[in-house]
Amino acid sequence: MQPLYDLHSHSTCSDGTLAPAELVNHAADAGVTHLALTDHDCIDGVAEAAAAARGCGLHLVPGVEISVTWQGQTLHVVGLGIDPANAILREGLAGLQQQRHERAERMADRLALKGMDVGALATGLAGGAAPARTHFARALCQAGFARDPQHAFRKLLRRGKPGYLETRWAALDVAVSWIIRAGGQAIIAHPHRYPLSASGRHRLWRGFKDVGGVGTEVVCANSTPMHIRVIAREAALFELLASVGSDYHGPEQRWVRLGQLAPVPAGLTPVWGHWPGTPS
Ligand code: MN
Ligand code: MN
Ligand code: MN
Repeated sequence: MQPLYDLHSHSTCSDGTLAPAELVNHAADAGVTHLALTDHDCIDGVAEAAAAARGCGLHLVPGVEISVTWQGQTLHVVGLGIDPANAILREGLAGLQQQRHERAERMADRLALKGMDVGALATGLAGGAAPARTHFARALCQAGFARDPQHAFRKLLRRGKPGYLETRWAALDVAVSWIIRAGGQAIIAHPHRYPLSASGRHRLWRGFKDVGGVGTEVVCANSTPMHIRVIAREAALFELLASVGSDYHGPEQRWVRLGQLAPVPAGLTPVWGHWPGTPS
């Protein structure tokens, strides 16, 4: 079988809508051979996903997507191939989960002050996970305060909007160190999505490599050919491994499909290049 990699996806353990086992089965049906589960600041779904993967012959890459504050901006760092039992990683993520629960309470309060009492709805949609902005977006739609989740983000949940809360996440070097201590590879997620200039990104690549980061996503579900060209050039320049990931959150996002990603541009080393037993 042709290998098909998708190294960025979410389950109900964070803000995805499929349970870990459902996600894995869905990925296998879509022809994905190597799937990374990368829930936000959470590895609780890895065991269930790994068990499901064994059942359907898919290779599950244990992963996580860590929220980072770097030079006043929120960035996401994906850890691939982490050991979910690692105590340092687990302790770090527990701290971030605590922050996520506190943030959700304060977001609910702020929206309620504007007459949008959707806290309980968002908590219900999160089903035990810390309610994320995605859950608030869905709740705001269900309660009729927004047309669709994108609209909810634009109107209410973006920086400067009533439901937005400035949060100080993990420092870049700290998040990368958790990933490394847990035996994983640290990868910058969806670099084209940050409001960074080319020189800002260059600073990020240098700072990231200095603290042990090894790669970046080059191909994401919503990358345009130009994004891919720009990031591929920078990955080559800064000698970063290339990753690919759909950032799948569930079938409701009809424009994102598991495994439907452009190939890694020629000349780059894929992040799986040195994984044991994996074809390139
Ligand atoms: Mn998400
Ligand atoms: Mn992300
Ligand atoms: Mn993601």
